[in-house]
Amino acid sequence: MESYNQKIVLEHSDITLFIKREDLLHPYVSGNKFRKLKYNLLQAKKEEKETLLTFGGAYSNHILAVAAAGCENGFKTIGVIRGEELAAKIASNPTLRKAQEFGMVFEFVSREAYREKNSKAFIDALVLQYGEFYMLPEGGTNDCAVKGCEEILTAEDDVFDYICCAVGTGGTLSGIINCSKDSQQVLGFPALKGEFLREDICNFVTKSNWTLQTDYHFGGYGKCTTELISFINEFYVHYKIPLDPVYTGKMVYGVLDLIAKKVFPAHSKILMIHTGGLQGIAGMNLKLRQNKQTEIIVHD
Ligand SMILES: *Cc1c(COP(=O)(O)O)cnc(C)c1O
Repeated sequence: MESYNQKIVLEHSDITLFIKREDLLHPYVSGNKFRKLKYNLLQAKKEEKETLLTFGGAYSNHILAVAAAGCENGFKTIGVIRGEELAAKIASNPTLRKAQEFGMVFEFVSREAYREKNSKAFIDALVLQYGEFYMLPEGGTNDCAVKGCEEILTAEDDVFDYICCAVGTGGTLSGIINCSKDSQQVLGFPALKGEFLREDICNFVTKSNWTLQTDYHFGGYGKCTTELISFINEFYVHYKIPLDPVYTGKMVYGVLDLIAKKVFPAHSKILMIHTGGLQGIAGMNLKLRQNKQTEIIVHD
């Protein structure tokens, strides 16, 4: 499917706001994960690797994206998953269940072991167990991923003054920065508390027309508040655009908050990137249901 820019009509505002619907690119390899995997898949083929191996948590968009893209492109896939207890819960975990349907094999590890996942000893043990593989880091950010994200903006996007995007590892934002115009400002909205991000992004970019808006993490990675859930539901009812609670919900909340606070100059043209992640709603709703909290409205 194609992504396109959808207008968001703001009442009582002179700001022009659009959202790029990258969430529509693929049903399971959603949004930025599609961009991040494109050149990695080509590289893995070039290296004649038959297996992709990567890392992630219980409801990871990246894990499901690798499982689905691997299946479509003829790779075996292995997911190293944080949390041994999840081994017994695959059936009740919508993300892992779907990844398994796509043929992903899981290696569940303790949180302590997971912290050592980049060590030579950890990787050597995996090679011993599974044979050679093409390794994608947790979250999927590397040079190939940034290159893919440099294709998110197109010539028609030159008219925008501001480009806004959610940030996890910063790979997507880096690609956007690299393909932005000098006249444009790129705003990243981290979904987690992380001072390391600025440095990580600097490793991938050469331009300086960007900032991180660090006030919209809602408590940290994977955390959310009733205020955020209400916002996502109201936004969906009003604009018929679904947002995920881990990334895009926080970013769109942030952009609308900055608009309300008149941080953007009058008549600014703003483009938000919808990076997808909608598969994560089901997992968040399971938690919300357990806590007897309002759930996120699911479309269709
Ligand atoms: C993974 C993800 C991000 C973060 O991308 P990074 O390149 O890691 O910053 C943003 N939005 C969604 C929906 C994601 O799944």
